[in-house]
Order: sequence, then C-alpha cells, then structure tokens
Amino acid sequence: MSITLDQVTKRYQGSPVVNDVSLEVGEGEFFVLLGPSGSGKSTLLRAIAGLTGVDHGRVALHGNDVTHVSARHRGVGFVFQNYALFRHMTVGENIEFALRVRRMRTEDRRQRRKELLRLVALEGMDDRLPTQLSGGQQQRVAVARALAHKPEVLLLDEPFGALDAKIREELRRTIRQVQRELKITTVLVTHDQEEAFALADRIGVMNLGRLLESGRPDELYDRPATRFVATFLGAANLLLAKQTEQGIRFGATPVNARRIEKLEGGREHEVVAVLRPEEIELAPTRDNLRTNYIATGVVEELVFTGALERIRVRMTSGPSDAHIGSNSHVDGHNTAAILDVTRTQHEQRVFPVVFGQSVAIGVRRIHVLPTPLSSYTVCAAETAAAERLSQHPFLIELAGRMKTRIAKRIDPALATCQGNAQTRISGVAVIAAQVKVAKQVEWLLWNGAAEVMVLPSQAVSPQRVLIHWADDAARRSTLAVAASLLRHVPAEAVYVGILPESRGGEGQRPLGVRTLLDARSEAQAVHGLEMRTELRFGAAAEELQRQLNEQVDQMLILGISDLSQLSREFAPLFAAPAAYSMMIVYRPARESDEQAASA
Ligand code: ADP
Ligand code: MG
Repeated sequence: MSITLDQVTKRYQGSPVVNDVSLEVGEGEFFVLLGPSGSGKSTLLRAIAGLTGVDHGRVALHGNDVTHVSARHRGVGFVFQNYALFRHMTVGENIEFALRVRRMRTEDRRQRRKELLRLVALEGMDDRLPTQLSGGQQQRVAVARALAHKPEVLLLDEPFGALDAKIREELRRTIRQVQRELKITTVLVTHDQEEAFALADRIGVMNLGRLLESGRPDELYDRPATRFVATFLGAANLLLAKQTEQGIRFGATPVNARRIEKLEGGREHEVVAVLRPEEIELAPTRDNLRTNYIATGVVEELVFTGALERIRVRMTSGPSDAHIGSNSHVDGHNTAAILDVTRTQHEQRVFPVVFGQSVAIGVRRIHVLPTPLSSYTVCAAETAAAERLSQHPFLIELAGRMKTRIAKRIDPALATCQGNAQTRISGVAVIAAQVKVAKQVEWLLWNGAAEVMVLPSQAVSPQRVLIHWADDAARRSTLAVAASLLRHVPAEAVYVGILPESRGGEGQRPLGVRTLLDARSEAQAVHGLEMRTELRFGAAAEELQRQLNEQVDQMLILGISDLSQLSREFAPLFAAPAAYSMMIVYRPARESDEQAASA
C-alpha cells in the first residue's frame, strides 16, 4: 500500500472534523476524496501530508509509519486550491525552488524543470511571472512544482477551484495524463461529483468527518450502501418500501422486478429504496409500461436540457406516504410523492409528455439500501405529548440528515403498558425519557418495534456514542444500527466490551481483547463503521452508566436479544432521569423460529 490511514481522527474544539478514517490507497492509484464543503476532506489531506497533526490514529506511507514525521520528510507533493506560487519568482524559479533547497546541481535542475514544463504543457514559459499567467496555467505550474522533487505521493486539494468550466476540463486532462505517465499515487480532494467521476480509479465519499464508503465510481453509483452516497453521487429518489418474502412493495403495489437485489434475513420490514431518475419509465397507461408499475402521477415540471429531459412527477396513486426525499428536495414533508425522472431523446420521442399530463410510472431497477434505520415513529399515549416529541431538535436533525420522515402514533395503551398495541409498530419507535420509560421500551419491543430510541427533552446531537450488546446474538444488528446512525451524527463511536469481574477479572483480558478486535473488524468489514474499543470489568449497567456520566452529550446504543435482559441487567440505566439518549436494538435470539411459528 502506498498510503495507509488507520483510524485517523482530528478534533477542533473537541469535535471530530476527521472521525476515525481508515483507508488504503494502492501504488499508482488515483483516489478522489469527495464530499460537501466542511466534511473534513482538506483536514484529512493535510494530515496525510503532515501539514496538520492528528489526535488519534496512524498515517503510513509505503509501509512506514510517518505519523510523527514532518511534512518535509514525508516525500509528498501538495497542490492547494489557491495558487500558492511565489509571486516574485518566475515560473522556472518556482519549479526549481524545492530542488535548490535540496541542493540539486544547476544542470540537473534545468533538466528537471524542462521535463516538468513539458509534462504540464507549459514549454517555454520559464521566464514568465505568475501574474502573467492565466489561472489554469498557474495551477499547471503548481502541479509541476509539487512534482519537482519526485515525491512518491501527490496530493491535490480542489486544484480546479477557481477556474472556469473549459479550463477545468483541460487541466483535469493534464493532471490525469501526468498521473498516468508518472504512475504516481495521487489523492485529489473535490466537492464536485463530475470531477470525481472523470478522474478517479476509486472514490471515497466523506460526510461529517467520516469516510462513508469507498469504491470504484460505477460500484458506488450502482450499489451505494448509504443514503448519503446514493444522493450525493448523482441524483436519486429515496422511497420507503416494504421488503417481504415476495419482494418489494410500495404501499399496496408489489414490484417484482427481476433486478431487485435480495436482502438477507428476517421478517417483513420497512426498507429504503433508491430509484435513479434514469431508471424510471413513463407511459400513457399502466398497460403500456414495459417495466414494473409503481404508481400513477402527474407531470409537474419539465425541463429540456439538450441530451436529456428532466421531469418531476407527482405521484397521485400508489405509495403516497412512501416518498422520503431526494437530493434535490430534502424536506420530505413538503415535497412528498415527487419523483425526479430523466429521459433520453429516444424515450421522449416514443412518449412525448406535456405539463399536467397523467402518466403511469414504472421502474426498471430498484436498489435497496442495507440500512436497518428507515424512518422514525414518535410514540405517545396522547396527542400533545406526541406533538411535542416530534418537534425534538435532535430528532428533527437526525431525520433531516437521513432524509426520512417522522410519523406520529398515539397509543393510549402506552400509558399503562398493558395489553397489545393496536397495530404492529414499524421503523424506529421514539419515546420521551421519563420515569416509566423502561416498561414502555419493553412494551414497544414486545409489540414489534425493532428499535426504540429514548430521548430526554434536553438531549442534543451526541459527541460520543457508546455501543454495547448484552450477548452475541445481538451483535450483528446492533452494529448495523450503530453504523447507520453514526453516518448521520458527527460523533465518536466507542464499543464498550464488559466482562464480569467474578469470572477472574484481569485474567480474562486476552479473551476480552480478542472480542474487541473481532467487533471492530466486523463493524469495519460488514458495516463500513470505524469505531474505537474499550474493555471494562464489572456489571454492564454500572460500567455503562459510569461512562455515560463522564461527559455530557452522549448516546448509548444497546443491543439485546431477550426482553428480560432489560429489567434483569440494565435496569439502572433507566432508573434515574438520564441526560443521555438511548437506542435500544432488539432482535430475538431465535427470530427465525418465531417467524416459522407465526407463519
Ligand atoms: P472540507 O475541506 O471538506 O471543506 P475542512 O477539512 O476544511 O473541510 O474542514 C472541516 C471542518 O473543520 C470544518 O467545519 C471547519 O470549519 C473545521 N476546521 C478546519 N480547520 C480548522 C481549524 N484550523 N480550526 C478550527 N476548525 C477548523
Ligand atoms: Mg477543503
């Protein structure tokens, strides 16, 4: 590996702006770090270069740990967004600067300068001053200068930033050519998806300081694992659907598309489906569709863009409550049931549409995200309480980031926790923290909720999230929920493994450490989640509580596989009015047996 990052974390004012990033960039690879402004891209790049120190984790270049090596000795070339050329030096002097510092002989310097200017297509410009060059030319000089001392790694931070479209494209081509010719390992930072597609062997997408996913551009586009990547890398409609044994259902409409990917496991549950605008088919009637019907709709907006036609269709039948948003309209409440559609010229000729026209909507391909967190349902015994809880700032922030909806559910039985719920509860149930909360959690889980989130009224977005599961049966689903949640909050994730003191305490340490490592690698490999690990000895509830009381703004994700574990092992966590929020994840240990029994 050319570049290896292991759980690199950088904090400013206590908040992680780069959060546990692990990454490997291969020899000669062109890797693009893509993310919105403020997601931590530049900070991460600077950490690789040694221009900024890290608070946690390690940086290795070509197998050597350089975490504590200065920038000058790391052998990297760096190109900044703003052309950081020396104003008073000519192009030639700028390029030779690093070589003079390294005491290279004059003739060798001249030779190298010539090579470099040819490489970036600026031959003969040696004597110009930066002010006599265009922006694009200045950036070419910056690239040449960064390459002068033959670094083994080239780092570029939004090098096309201030340039206009045509120049960007030219410079992009030059950089790609230079990279291919020198076979130099390159990391380029950008917020521009098109640029990432044009340059990258692999793309890593960052948001809120985390590296969410990395992979080949086509893989990330076809099979994103997260809502963020689905909507940031190209346009996407996100819809809530039900996954059943027969396939995907939108409301009452089953969709049996051949290309629907199978999702593992379990009973019927709510999932998040990704519909790319170009995978949607429009036809005059349902019978004319060549693909799977999902709804009817009305054309609300129509924009001709040359090669493509962009249409917005409001769904008038079908899964009206299923729509949860897309990259162009984030607020699912106001724009419910609008689908973005793009059509080629050919499709336009086959079926021309006009504003206001009724259409049947079909879909060629649906991609189901592997996230277990689809939507939130606020649960309360009476309307006012549900209303209040649905306005909770942290919940609104979370649902907004997840582009999902917050439903309300009034169930008087929640007051007493006697009897059964009126209907089965789906999605994450959310309740307010209060004295009787333990009983409510148990009642909701008993009535079909797979996760319950407990929110104290003053809870804010956490800075640290503790993860713990009562036994191994709950491990997998707890990690899946933690990974999903942590993509949407800029918090540090810590898995707390707890061994009982009675079993020999310290003597158990090797076993404990192995459990931690296993948990960490499973989180990484299966769920793309990086987390720290801590080993404790004692009673689980007390240990967790101690840590939760250490600092404010924390959250606990607790996995159980048996309802009695709540009162038996974790009662202390619910006893006093707590300041921390909790997410209880419940997967019955023998879920498959239960399912068989109820079928
Ligand atoms: P990006 O390059 O993705 O736009 P940055 O890495 O520049 O993001 O910044 C990530 C976050 O860290 C931002 O919220 C930014 O305000 C913050 N940040 C960056 N540098 C500093 C600094 N020196 N001091 C405090 N906060 C910083
Ligand atoms: Mg930046």
